[in-house]
Amino acid sequence: MSWLTNFVRPKLRALGIKPDVPDNLWIKCPSCEQMLFHRELVTNLHVCHYCDHHLRLPAADRLEMLFDEGEYQTIELPETVTDPLRFRDRRRYTERLRDARHGDDRRDAVLVGHGDMGGHPAVVAAFDFGFMGGSMGVAAGEGLLAAANLAVLQDAPLIVVPASGGARMQEGILSLMQLPRTVIGVQQVREAGLPYIVVLADPTTGGVTASFAMLGDIALAEPGAVVGFAGTRVIQETIREKLPEGFQRAEYLHEHGMVDMVVHRRALRERLIAIIDLLRNTRPLAEVVPLERPGKTTGKSADGKPEEASRDKPPEDKAGPEPQAEPGEAPTKDA
Ligand SMILES: [Zn+2]
Repeated sequence: MSWLTNFVRPKLRALGIKPDVPDNLWIKCPSCEQMLFHRELVTNLHVCHYCDHHLRLPAADRLEMLFDEGEYQTIELPETVTDPLRFRDRRRYTERLRDARHGDDRRDAVLVGHGDMGGHPAVVAAFDFGFMGGSMGVAAGEGLLAAANLAVLQDAPLIVVPASGGARMQEGILSLMQLPRTVIGVQQVREAGLPYIVVLADPTTGGVTASFAMLGDIALAEPGAVVGFAGTRVIQETIREKLPEGFQRAEYLHEHGMVDMVVHRRALRERLIAIIDLLRNTRPLAEVVPLERPGKTTGKSADGKPEEASRDKPPEDKAGPEPQAEPGEAPTKDA
């Protein structure tokens, strides 16, 4: 290939002929090892069309997939201190960070976007496993806190999609401090009476499962996603026992009550919208489900539904959520 890449390609470029072949045209499915055409894979939401394996998704693709018409705005995350411990293993941490950023505008492993989902305002924070294993350092912690604040400010549900190997060891104790910080962020959302939904993507392991990732009011998971604190091998070697088939996979956790639903990526957006619809229904229930109501409103009639309707927010509160109330808080527009 060297002759082609080193000689032919520059010559073609010099002639103004663009060799329109990206480097990652074909991707091998990590599960069935079939070769997948990149463009097809993108239209199929990064799901293998041979074996239905859910491949890992860049954070930007995740946000595009969830919001109405794929339109959303990202927020600029607060600047954080880089390399506070001047950490060095085989390479410097700063070098690793620079490589992970490689020129594009992602600053760290978390991307926070806001927009509409099924007409409801929503805030989504998605992890990028491609950025240093989606590890949670100070910047990622700040990202989650910013997302929680934005959700409270916009009176919108918060959806978090972790895909992370855990804490970022290069930041030591500062990374571990993000565990309680993110829990406080979740608590803020909860105190504001807003839904907090987690979509567990492959892999959700280590520090994130010890904090915000397991605290969702509703926990969804993608099929086959690995979710757990310590890795299977570590557990197996510690307890000296063979672990059951499918241990730490989304389906296993669903069977054992750790996950509420396992949802295919194609159905994920619709399912999330349905959940938000249910949880954020500010209209009286009678408007949504027309009921035959007798003259009185004592709720004696049928199954207590009219009473439930009156328990909902009164209609004058309907104008309450104003998604773009504070435009100054959400400065950047993502192209
Ligand atoms: Zn496959």
